[in-house]
Order: sequence, then structure tokens, then C-alpha cells
Amino acid sequence: IPPANPSLLDGLDADQRAAAEITDGPLLIIAGPGTGKTRTLTHRIAHLVTAHGVAPQHCLAITFTRRAAAEMAERLATLVPDAAAQLTLGTFHALGLTLLREHHTRVGLSNHFGIATETQRLALLTNLLDDERAARRALATLSRHRRAADTDPETTELHLRYTKALREQDLVDFDDLIALPVELLETDPQLTEHYRDRYRWISVDEYQDVDEAQYRLLRLLAPPGGNLTAIGDPDQAIYRFRGADVGFFLRFQQDYPTARTVALTRNYRSTPTILAGALQAIAPATLVPDRELRPALDHGEHPKIGVYRAGDERAEASFVARTMDQLLGGSSFHSLDSGRVDAHGETTAGLTFADIAVLYRTDAQARALMAALTQAGVPFQKRSHDRLADRPAVAEILRALAHLHPEAATTVADRVRQAARTALEQVPAEEHEDRAAEIHTAVDLLAPLATDCGEDLARFRAELALGAEVDTWDPRADRVSLLTLHAAKGLEFPVVFLVGCEDGLLPLRWPGTEPDPEELGEERRLFFVGMTRAQHHLVLSHAGERTRQGATRPATPSPFLSDLDVAVCQRLGEGTRKRPRARQLRLL
Ligand code: ATP
Ligand code: MG
Repeated sequence: IPPANPSLLDGLDADQRAAAEITDGPLLIIAGPGTGKTRTLTHRIAHLVTAHGVAPQHCLAITFTRRAAAEMAERLATLVPDAAAQLTLGTFHALGLTLLREHHTRVGLSNHFGIATETQRLALLTNLLDDERAARRALATLSRHRRAADTDPETTELHLRYTKALREQDLVDFDDLIALPVELLETDPQLTEHYRDRYRWISVDEYQDVDEAQYRLLRLLAPPGGNLTAIGDPDQAIYRFRGADVGFFLRFQQDYPTARTVALTRNYRSTPTILAGALQAIAPATLVPDRELRPALDHGEHPKIGVYRAGDERAEASFVARTMDQLLGGSSFHSLDSGRVDAHGETTAGLTFADIAVLYRTDAQARALMAALTQAGVPFQKRSHDRLADRPAVAEILRALAHLHPEAATTVADRVRQAARTALEQVPAEEHEDRAAEIHTAVDLLAPLATDCGEDLARFRAELALGAEVDTWDPRADRVSLLTLHAAKGLEFPVVFLVGCEDGLLPLRWPGTEPDPEELGEERRLFFVGMTRAQHHLVLSHAGERTRQGATRPATPSPFLSDLDVAVCQRLGEGTRKRPRARQLRLL
């Protein structure tokens, strides 16, 4: 074995390095937030290629989002510039699409088959069932049926009709992207061999959130004893509502009996106080009871977790805007030191908008926040974890795009702009203002991808179909990030506001219903994921009353807040007071 390129493993601690140096056989890396799992995975691939002579085309890394894949690709391009282009990095769905493109004729598709949007699926089902409400219910049932291998005869029969209609339009749906390759491989051992030979080293980040179909695909590609590295944190499993099952992570050792396990225990992200608070929050429902997780960096003097009670959601939003202004060195902060300590213990210049995120449980909460930030003149980028193509305004643009004259424009970006003008489908005058705003937002969201695709419209469509809104999140934009908790997975920010910490909102529950313990566990994990995005400042807020779905109701603080010790958090000025005292929010 040639000596390791020192620069590739230099940036890793002893445990991370041990994980990176296990090159063959199944490997499980189980570790808490901010322990460098994603970083280790990236360096491990670079190390495989340079120190062990593994051909990059044999390496496959599966990430949870396209954005995460792009980030990893960028890192690898600097670590191993010569090999990066031959690595395969992407989501499960992108992998499924690759497999399907290579064998489209076998499932009755042309070589330019499309991926149906939710709008297209709904239209198709409405057509089959003659009833839009029934069609909406069927959408959910069919997805469950597909993912959980449900055998209810009525659903099976509907599924057959639905699939037939879909194929007649040369379409697959999102679930098909995994399910069809699984069917292909299960029925063709030679084909399975072919792909096993191509992808000899497979790594999966965020393994705690794989679903059954994805798991089956992995089992086919990586047989027991294969070079499969699974990385994750069971306490960050938050996609159960989409069919993910943390059970697959927990049984990795049974599925791959020769697997070695490495635990990473040092958190490089958060202050000791934030980390302690997060561990207190997850403790009652942890799936990793013997977890060891300690802060790796000495942050010196650092603030406690702030807890703030606002009157209602508007007051909460203006508190967030006001506090941001203070943190950014606005008028009230002039006399205070606003430098901060970065992850390497070095003091840097003051904060910028990009250092701040506001996280929330439901997308609807962004409304009040956007209004307050707009009023305060704070630029922001808002992203959810929903699929981009399912946004109504994006769907409208896509429809207009399909009907655009072929010679209307050459570049995708120009075509999108033209389609948006057309979509603007036609909007009735009384709805004009709101819809126009939505279409403009959609154009902004699509712009970077459209530019990226040059003149390749087919690629634009495919990328769009696979992408979530959060994939278009730009880490370099000088804007505050407004993100759902689901969209914030894997990210980190010096300053995090986690708003809406109320019973019924986080944990989320529809009025009048009781959550089951599984759901409650998932909600607690979401709270844990949210808290652990923060590096230096964490503020948790809740309101005394909140308007949801048109009804205003009194709100009580989230039960999760009462699990936090007074040693790690402190109340910020009450909502009735004009502003939190600057001293309490002092930056280091
Ligand atoms: P999550 O569970 O949230 O996905 P993670 O375990 O994947 O977190 P990373 O995002 O890889 O963690 O790393 C968290 C932060 O710590 C990053 O800023 C990363 O650069 C930094 N980091 C990780 N390992 C080290 C190290 N050995 N030395 C310095 N910084 C490190
Ligand atoms: Mg990660």
C-alpha cells in the first residue's frame, strides 16, 4: 500500500482517520451531529482513490439532497482534482434515473421519458377516478403502497391502471425511479452483477433516513461483505412521513455481519452549551442511549441558549428581525464587540446575513417572518424540503414551457423567462398580484439551474424533477436563510433562531388529535436536528397565541423546552418589553 497522501487525512481527528482508513468490507459510521461524518466520508473517498488506487469510476456516494452532492463534488474537486469528474455522487433518485436511462426499453419507456410532477399525477388520477378528491387521497395511498409493498387488492388494481396511464404518456413517477430499477435488478442477476462491478465502493450519507425501496436497491448493489459504508445518526431520523425507516440503520450489523463500526464522538460545530442543551432535549427519546458526544473546540466564554416568549407570531417575527439587527451590529450594538470565534477558534470579523438561519416546523410560518424581514430591509432566501416541480408556480411555468414555440428562444434561461411571461397562464386580474409574485419567486428559484443547463432543456426538466427547493439554496448568498427543519438537515450556521417552539407546532399536531409515540419521537428528533444546526448562538422562541389555518388559538410552550436545564438556557426579555437586553445577546 502506498503511503497516504498526508494532506487528505490531515484534516481528520484520530477516530475520523480510523474510519477513513478502513477501505474494504462493510463499515458503519455512527455519530452525532457535527462530528464530521460528511467530512469523513468525503476525505475517505479521496483517500481510497489516491492512496489505494481505487478507480474513481468504481466509487459511488449517495447523499440525501442534490445540494449535498454538489457540495461534496466541490470538495472532492479540490481534494482529488484529477479523479473528481469520474466519481458518481448523487441522491438515490439520481442513481435510479441513471439505471433507468440505461435500460428504459425494458420497462416500456422511450429514451426521453419524463418524470411526472404531482400536478401531472393528480390530473392523471382525476381522469381515472372522475373525482378530484378521491384522486388526492389515491396519491398518498399509491405512494405508501409502492414503498411499503402493500398488497391490498383494491390499491393494487388502481396502481396497475395508474401505471398503465403513466406509461402511455412516457412518464415515470418519483417512486418509480427507485422501484423500477429494483424490479429490474431483482429479475436479472446478470444486470445486478454488472452494476456491482461498476459500483464497487458505495457510501451512503444520512443512512438513518433510507426507505424500504432505497434499502432494497442498496442490498442488491452491495451484497453482504461488499464495500458499503453507511453513515448516519439515528437521532436525526426525520423523514418517516415519507416512508423512511430508521430500523434499516439499526439492523445494519445483522444485514452486514462482517461490518466494522466506528463511532465519532467529538462535535466540531457547536458551543458546549448548545451541545449540552441539544443532548438534554433528545435524551427522553434517544435511539442511541450510550452515545458519547463532547465538544471538540474550546469556545471560551459563550452565550447561553436564549428562550423568548412573544405575544403572537407577528411579534415573534419582529423580535427575530430586531435581534438580527442587533447581532449584525445595528444601531443598538455599536458599542459592543461583534467579532466571533469560528470553528477553528479564530476570531473573525462580524457576522453577515449568510451566518443566520431561521428554522421552523411548517412552511406556513415563513409568512410572518418574511413580512418582518422585508420591513426591516433584511435580504433572505426561503427554502422548504418540498420538491421544486411541485410548487404550483413552477408547475405553471413547466406547462407553459411545453407549449412554447420551438424557436422562441435557444437558452433554457430565456425559455423559462418567456414561459413565465406566458404563465402570467393567463392569470385572472383579481388574483394577479399574488400569483405574479409567486411566478416571479419561481423564476428566481429556477434561474441558477436554468443557466447551468445552457441549451439542454431535457436536462433542465430532469434536474428539476429530481430537485427539492432546498437544492437551490445558495450558501454563498449574502442573505438570511429561512428553512423548514427538514430542509436544514446537514447544514450549520453561526446563528440559529428556532421559532414556533409550541405544543402542537413542535411537536406538530392537528388540533384535537393525540400524537402517537412514534410521531412524538420524530418531532423530538426534529427539534434536536434544529438545535444542532447552531454553532454559536441559538435562540428558541414561542408565542402566546398563534393563527393557524385561519383560527387564532392560545399556545403553550413546547414540552421539549421544559427538558432544558437552566444551566444551558435563559429567558430573554419578555415579549411585552421593547427589546432584549443587549448584554444577554452579546457576541464573543
Ligand atoms: P450532521 O450530523 O449535522 O450532518 P456531520 O457529522 O456530517 O453533521 P460535518 O458537517 O461533516 O458533520 O462537520 C461539522 C463541522 O465540523 C464542519 O464545519 C466541519 O468542517 C467541521 N469538522 C469536522 N471534523 C473536523 C476536524 N477534524 N477538524 C476541524 N473541523 C472539523
Ligand atoms: Mg452530515
